[in-house]
Amino acid sequence: MDSFELKNTLQRAVKGEVVDDAETLRKMSRDTSLFTRTPELVVYPRDILDVSAIVREVGRARKAGAAVSLAARSAGTDMTGGPLTTGVVVSFTEHMNHMGHVGTDYALTEPGVFYRDFEKATLEKHLILPSYPASRGIAAMGGIVANNSGGERTLEYGKTEKYIEELEVVLSDGTRTLFKALTPAELEEKKKLQTLEGNIYREMDALITENAALIEARRPKVLKNSAGYALWNVRNAETGTFNLAKLICGSQGTLALWTKAKLNLVKPKEHRAMLVIFLNDITILPEIVKRVLPENPESFESYDDHTLTLAVRFIPEMLKQMGFRKAVSLGISFISEALMVATGGVPKLILMAEFAADTIEEADRRAKATHDALADLHLDMKIEKDEKESEKYWIVRRESFALLRKNLHGLYAAPFIDDLVIPPKSYPDFLPKLNALLAEYSSHFIYTLAGHIGDGNLHIIPLMDLSKEENRQVILELAPKVYDLVIKAGGTTTGEHNDGIIRTPYLPMLFGDEMVALFGKTKDIFDPLHIFNPGKKVGGTFEDIKRDIITTA
Ligand SMILES: Cc1cc2nc3c(=O)[nH]c(=O)nc-3n(C[C@H](O)[C@H](O)[C@H](O)COP(=O)(O)OP(=O)(O)OC[C@H]3O[C@@H](n4cnc5c(N)ncnc54)[C@H](O)[C@@H]3O)c2cc1C
Repeated sequence: MDSFELKNTLQRAVKGEVVDDAETLRKMSRDTSLFTRTPELVVYPRDILDVSAIVREVGRARKAGAAVSLAARSAGTDMTGGPLTTGVVVSFTEHMNHMGHVGTDYALTEPGVFYRDFEKATLEKHLILPSYPASRGIAAMGGIVANNSGGERTLEYGKTEKYIEELEVVLSDGTRTLFKALTPAELEEKKKLQTLEGNIYREMDALITENAALIEARRPKVLKNSAGYALWNVRNAETGTFNLAKLICGSQGTLALWTKAKLNLVKPKEHRAMLVIFLNDITILPEIVKRVLPENPESFESYDDHTLTLAVRFIPEMLKQMGFRKAVSLGISFISEALMVATGGVPKLILMAEFAADTIEEADRRAKATHDALADLHLDMKIEKDEKESEKYWIVRRESFALLRKNLHGLYAAPFIDDLVIPPKSYPDFLPKLNALLAEYSSHFIYTLAGHIGDGNLHIIPLMDLSKEENRQVILELAPKVYDLVIKAGGTTTGEHNDGIIRTPYLPMLFGDEMVALFGKTKDIFDPLHIFNPGKKVGGTFEDIKRDIITTA
């Protein structure tokens, strides 16, 4: 079946639009990764019946011999190439963007709802999903669930996997079902079904039960992980329940497409105080982290001198997006940073430990206690007593990757070692080795470092001229060297951004062949024809990386 025939077939099958104009295909050929893939068609489903019809027709075409597949897409802010495909894009933000009911401790949502709208609705009930990513202004719920996103509050609250309760999904044969926690008796009932769903329950129960020891041994022992399939999350050790929604979370649209989610929410604390640490000697970072964590900061974030210098450069642009009053007050608050840059006094690292509590006195007390605990290290520190004062630090931290994506004289923000996680206790050994390794490549790129310092999650973003073959080559040469250090430190290759095109080929290095074989079996059980986002999570190659890296800024 050629593209023309498939388009006609899909047009007949769905209520939503099927498009292939050049402008749409160009837009859908990019996310925020360093890759490009141009799709054949883009479909905007109107509801679950449309999603089901798309999956059925693509499956039928595949069975008839066409080399077609599909990839789900929500806001397209993925940093790994997750929503990119040469097949059919199923795009959710156009129509499937309805916010559902917000209950006393949960919310229902469709995947195309932008997080900013989701949050508006939950805050009306004084509730929040605390795993929101730094891309909170531009990302949608589809990718937040499918990437198992995390963010600045993950240190205290965990990632999206903890909050996902139920997912309405379309399976690879086009059938629809609801994945939720099943008691052992309910699981046995499901296993009796003579359908794809029944087969999934039978085979996944067997796979998880028979390989329980291997799965537990290979589960990354860090505070956050988005690599591989979360086989370790399916069976709840305390309750004995079996919930496949926990496996779909983080699977990047490779096992099922989700169309409605039930997410648990928390009541956010009302008050915050921030201890800001301006650090020049990063050798004492491990000691600082060790002393800050016992005070249980809600967030413990950081950004480096390059990030701050870039932020100062783009202050006028950042302020332009705000109202006049806010722009003036924020502009004034950035004067000290501008002076730091002008006088060459930018610290190597800025650390932000934020303490949240129900009263400002308690938040402030904990910031002060942490300040006192660090006193003998003779650091340059400051306590920001309210959220207005700490806002400028959050703006720089949250905007750090977005800032890098501005036009920087042909240099491209290239996320390929962008999401490492190591146990924080490994900093003393790990950081000098990482710095030495990055220094070897200093003729190829400069880089910024920002991240969730409290849970060992570092975002390193090199700025590169990707038009040069030798620089593109560095991506494949350096990544395994960095991952080798990360794995030896007991870490993982991705804490929240996920595997996508850029990290799937490194899964054997991280998990070993036996565990990767289980990921392969999982994929075959859910999606025997591999029509859902092939090459992500399972089957991706180094050739994919080489072929699809963009070559211009
Ligand atoms: C400036 C910036 C900062 C960022 N900061 C963070 C951060 O702090 N933490 C973090 O986790 N990430 C971060 N990201 C990456 C990205 O924004 C998040 O992972 C986000 O959750 C992706 O959401 P999206 O809707 O844009 O997903 P998309 O890019 O649309 O898709 C992401 C993946 O989800 C799949 N998918 C989408 N919808 C569905 C569906 N309905 N069913 C099945 N699969 C689906 C896609 O196929 C793809 O594999 C950042 C990105 C940028 C640009």
